Amino acid sequence: MSAFRTLDEADLKGKRVLLRVDLNVPMEGGKVSDRTRLERAAPTIAEIADKGGKVILLSHFGRPKGRNSKDSLKPAADALAGVLNRPVGFADDCIGPAAEAAVSAMKNGDIVCLENTRFHAGEEKNDPGFIDALAALGDIWVNDAFSAAHRAHASTEGLGHRLPAYAGRNMQAELDALARALLSPQRPLAAIVGGAKVSTKLDLLGNLIAKVDTLMIGGGMANTFLAARGRPVGKSLCEHDLVATARQTLAQAEAGGCEIVLPVDAVVTKEFKALAPSRVTGVDAVAADEMILDIGPRTIEHVVSVLARTKTLVWNGPFGAFEMEPFDNGTVEVAEAAAELTQAGNLVSIAGGGDTVAALNAAGAGKRFTYVSTAGGAFLEWMEGKALPGVEVLRVR
Ligand code: AMP
Repeated sequence: MSAFRTLDEADLKGKRVLLRVDLNVPMEGGKVSDRTRLERAAPTIAEIADKGGKVILLSHFGRPKGRNSKDSLKPAADALAGVLNRPVGFADDCIGPAAEAAVSAMKNGDIVCLENTRFHAGEEKNDPGFIDALAALGDIWVNDAFSAAHRAHASTEGLGHRLPAYAGRNMQAELDALARALLSPQRPLAAIVGGAKVSTKLDLLGNLIAKVDTLMIGGGMANTFLAARGRPVGKSLCEHDLVATARQTLAQAEAGGCEIVLPVDAVVTKEFKALAPSRVTGVDAVAADEMILDIGPRTIEHVVSVLARTKTLVWNGPFGAFEMEPFDNGTVEVAEAAAELTQAGNLVSIAGGGDTVAALNAAGAGKRFTYVSTAGGAFLEWMEGKALPGVEVLRVR
């Protein structure tokens, strides 16, 4: 972490701290339905307030085109006050007179949330005038929103060029976990990549093949690889136009000494629905009218045996259509095995991206992993080996 400035080096007392958090939380009927991101943001907010800083929260919410009440941050700010158990003030604009008045009334240790940064087009354009207007409200900028760090927007990146910039504790935890996953992992290092499609994960696979000792492929995307190996996939989700690419990926892995694990058996069904009648079959015997919706018991056993000789695991994407019973079984069994190995101190397990968090939580295993990232796109881009603008701007130069 020495490559990034953290709160340990920041002089916070009496300072106006522009703190970029991710309050883009799921909402149902005007109420926050999942407080995970608020809970992750809370420690940094509390630390800055307790050290006498004035905490000015910046965040986006949704994808508004201009101002609208549906995308106001007010409900998230209210829920945050509940999580923090402290008052959180609110200004109904993030720049201009409303924001200036709210900030100038703050005392040391106060917390104020400014309205959705995306109500201004300058946010996503990283517009210099908009950055100036935000920067005028603060003395320093702390970025604690790893999940938005793949975007070079005004509040996620631009401010880092105008004000002294620091990583918040959540950002720091993400960067530490990611470094343990791919930069300086204990080996053997294995990755699980599952989920729906190969097409969305080509860069991810390319980067992982160059870094990991074993790559285990599951989910719908495994079908394209099975097809590349000449297996019949029936009416399974399969990107036939990517079969040649999958074949290249397999060859690349072999040339680079990366072991690839593909399903040897599968749970197949004729209908894509929960509790549809299903059977277990070897991947060489999937009928033309069947589709693969999960890995079978022999594959689970093999994956678990690989985990038993693995020191570090990176996981993105479920092994099957985990939202529907019984096709969640492969994901649940492997997640449980990874959680147990982690708890026994034999495995560093890091997961994130897309549906992975939901899948691991549904399996009841997420809390027993070493680290589960709440970031979607940013986690994937980092795993793809890409530089994230909101992280790069924090580097000590
Ligand atoms: P992703 O967002 O790419 O990680 O994909 C997650 C989605 O992949 C989940 O909604 C799963 O239901 C779906 N999925 C996983 N395995 C399969 C499969 N064998 N067939 C169809 N969909 C699948």
